[in-house]
Amino acid sequence: MNRNVILFLLCTALLFACFGCNLPRNQRFERIYYDVFDTVTKLSGYAESESAFGEQADKVYAQLHAYHVLFDIYHDAPSGTNLKAINDAAGGDPIAVDPQIIDLLLFAKEVDEQTNHRVNVTLGAVTKLWHDAREAALADPEHAVLPDAQLLREAARHTGFDKLELDESAGTVRLTDPLARLDVGAIAKGYVAQKVSEQLPDGYLLSLGGNVVAKGTKPGGSAWTIGIQNPDEPSALLHTIRAENLAIVTSGDYQRVFTINGISYHHIIDPDTLTPAMRWRAVTVLCEDSAVADMLSTALFLMDYETGSSLAKRYGADALWIAPGGTEYRTDGFGAYQKN
Ligand code: ADP
Ligand code: MG
Repeated sequence: MNRNVILFLLCTALLFACFGCNLPRNQRFERIYYDVFDTVTKLSGYAESESAFGEQADKVYAQLHAYHVLFDIYHDAPSGTNLKAINDAAGGDPIAVDPQIIDLLLFAKEVDEQTNHRVNVTLGAVTKLWHDAREAALADPEHAVLPDAQLLREAARHTGFDKLELDESAGTVRLTDPLARLDVGAIAKGYVAQKVSEQLPDGYLLSLGGNVVAKGTKPGGSAWTIGIQNPDEPSALLHTIRAENLAIVTSGDYQRVFTINGISYHHIIDPDTLTPAMRWRAVTVLCEDSAVADMLSTALFLMDYETGSSLAKRYGADALWIAPGGTEYRTDGFGAYQKN
């Protein structure tokens, strides 16, 4: 073969190799799930083919569903035990649970300590009263009523980590108080989004009910763009964020709401007043780890700016606070992520 022919063949091979690796990765796919964690989950990603994306999506869904069953406090697990089983067994014998439950509850214990008990998964007896009031109000808005203050105070006596026994080596959990209940709503979605995203390749974006995790960049190296909603008009965006290997979570007073006499009651409960916290309209947290971002967004929603920003700093996180009236506060590092 003469040199020109060899060169031509080499160039053709290189061209094919380039097209082979670049073109198919440019395809974006998407799947939406409505049946996990009582919310909407969206997986987007770039893959070589629909079937390659489908394979990832099936894996993600299987993991999400398994966590959903495990961390459910409203329905029995078809086989084995879950958080509902722990709640049902309160005051009884320790029950053996999946190691993932122990892992989540150990994280929850750290969260309770780090947030000075602001975010406390043992508040279940209290949050259940708000949950039931919301469900009743949504079903029959004309007869909506607030949870009774006396019942809330009574429920608060059955909260606290001193009522939760975690035996790591035996793999068992026990609520010692028959009226104590677990509610992991403030941390579970972020925790699960973190675990599931760890298995995802770069070029994927997972949003588990607004707990967003961006894996790597889009093909070509550009960052993902994530919107931060306006609390007064959640379909409109206040800011857009450049996200690359980043978790973004918002806690807001416009989520899971019911209304009585024109006043809205949301779902993030101040453990001191036992009523929905009024300090902020919304808090968005940006950090590497989605479990941390979720717990911080709830925690910062329940704290003043100074306490919240030093907690965020301890975890290497950035945040945006939106106060009633629309005034914004942010950590020093937040601006670096902003697109607009
Ligand atoms: P979302 O569930 O919309 O992402 P959050 O992460 O802020 O919002 O969690 C709010 C949920 O956490 C509530 O629906 C309730 O189940 C639970 N919760 C409310 N207040 C507290 C609290 N102070 N500590 C722990 N959990 C809470
Ligand atoms: Mg949270």
